[in-house]
Amino acid sequence: MAFGFLRSVNLKAIENIQSLGIPNLIQHLGGWSPFPAVTINTVITPESLPHLAEMVPIAQAAGVDSVSYQHLMFSDCSSHDEAALDVEQLLADIPRLKQQARDAGLPVTFYPRMSESKLRVYYQGSEDELNRKGMFPWYMVQVDMLGNVTPCRGFVVDNVKTKTGSFGEVWNSRRFRDYRNELVRLGVFPDCGRCCHRQY
Ligand code: SF4
Repeated sequence: MAFGFLRSVNLKAIENIQSLGIPNLIQHLGGWSPFPAVTINTVITPESLPHLAEMVPIAQAAGVDSVSYQHLMFSDCSSHDEAALDVEQLLADIPRLKQQARDAGLPVTFYPRMSESKLRVYYQGSEDELNRKGMFPWYMVQVDMLGNVTPCRGFVVDNVKTKTGSFGEVWNSRRFRDYRNELVRLGVFPDCGRCCHRQY
């Protein structure tokens, strides 16, 4: 596995974060590595479902820090084909996969987190049966390799190259606050769909 590429991506991300006015990022981390822990993430699809158990030995061989399984994101909630994913098979597999990862000494995550009953609704139910709630833009921001600052959905609130203020000013800017206020008003945006950051 090519971790050299990951390292250069992270160096670029660190550079962008420092451009936001947090110049002593590495110093802030104390003795911690500025490079993040590496997780192998697998999206659960009808095609990957029979192969999920193969990810643990792959993760072990690659020497990563943890594994995660991500429920499929899809946008057209109410017309999603019920037969697309065998949810009962997935529910039976989840405890086995957790045990397998534990036995291998690897932390494992399934996300977004939800109960069994909510998982059935997630894959087979309608939009009306899900919570209309999202908190992501209050605690997270992404800075991409182009320097775009975005909460999610590709909505760019600023760019580290063109911004005029500090990170605090970007975070509390009119544009960012309007985005959050609109989310409060709507609960979720029409295109949030089964976003992995939504609170189900
Ligand atoms: S649920 Fe919607 S608002 Fe929340 S993170 Fe996902 S796309 Fe953004």
